[in-house]
Amino acid sequence: MVKLDELVNWAYKNSYRISWGHTGHLIDAYNEFDKKSQSGEFNDIQTSIFQNWGSFHQLNEDEMSTIILIATSTSGKTRKIIFDCNGIKINTLVPPWYSYDEEEKCSNTINENLSNFLSEYGYKTRKLLGPYKYLSAKLGLGRYGRNNLVYVDGLGSYARIAGFITNAELTPNRYPEINSDRLVLENCSTCTSCMRKCPTQAIDNDQFLLHVDRCLSYHSELIDAGIEFSKYAEQDCLVGCLNCQDVCPYNNGFTAAENISLVSFNREETSYIVGEYNQDIQIIEKVVEKKLEKVGLSRHKSYIVRNLRVHINSKITGR
Ligand code: SF4
Ligand code: SF4
Repeated sequence: MVKLDELVNWAYKNSYRISWGHTGHLIDAYNEFDKKSQSGEFNDIQTSIFQNWGSFHQLNEDEMSTIILIATSTSGKTRKIIFDCNGIKINTLVPPWYSYDEEEKCSNTINENLSNFLSEYGYKTRKLLGPYKYLSAKLGLGRYGRNNLVYVDGLGSYARIAGFITNAELTPNRYPEINSDRLVLENCSTCTSCMRKCPTQAIDNDQFLLHVDRCLSYHSELIDAGIEFSKYAEQDCLVGCLNCQDVCPYNNGFTAAENISLVSFNREETSYIVGEYNQDIQIIEKVVEKKLEKVGLSRHKSYIVRNLRVHINSKITGR
């Protein structure tokens, strides 16, 4: 049987923040979300996110009884990406979590490390497919902010959270120790910074649940953005939105401005990206695609082109 202090020491040596609890929390999550979905408290977007989690079906496999959550810092910096549109500079930001390849690599490493560690005691481990934020708050790994993100001590909302289920029985099992008044950051009862900074009023004073249908971050990743997307040009991101995170006092030291790397695309490269390059594209295609891949944007290209056009249009027309 694995001893708790050995697990905690293992996490400490790897610079991981760790929390664990009974898989009963997943059942609770399912019931809670199902109720919200049935009652209409969840809108279509939230219901479809909830229905896409596969975690609830994994529990019976190999008698998985324990959830383990591990938080680390995001693998990269926020990237400042400057485009040149016929001499006009378009400055944009890409939050670090959009480097899916790096994020995936890092989550696979954590998975491998944990599996190796627990297999020495004869236990199996599987990746958990959400809901990380809910579980992080319930298992004491972090706390919700008013912006519905989870903040981990020492990492803010810029934490990367990986979840696992295992048949290792960990005692004392923390389930159900966290009181509901400890689920939300203390300052949120008096602070309204994120709410005031949100350009689309997605954060509401009268309800805790985010109006995800108004959230620019969500819509910035959709091919058919369903809101007045011109608002997107009023903020700095090329994808995602950092307004409610960068203004939060719990993110001091982690904000975009404090951890930034610079990438630029010249006039030809920018015009290729937005589909306006009229010369032989063979050479530039290779260069730009490689560059997009390096900064982790290849997978996001479909909506990034749309978002860039919105920024360019706004800069040129002033709207
Ligand atoms: S990500 Fe942007 S749009 Fe969404 S809640 Fe935060 S500030 Fe508002
Ligand atoms: S900005 Fe203020 S209200 Fe918003 S999550 Fe941070 S502490 Fe809470």
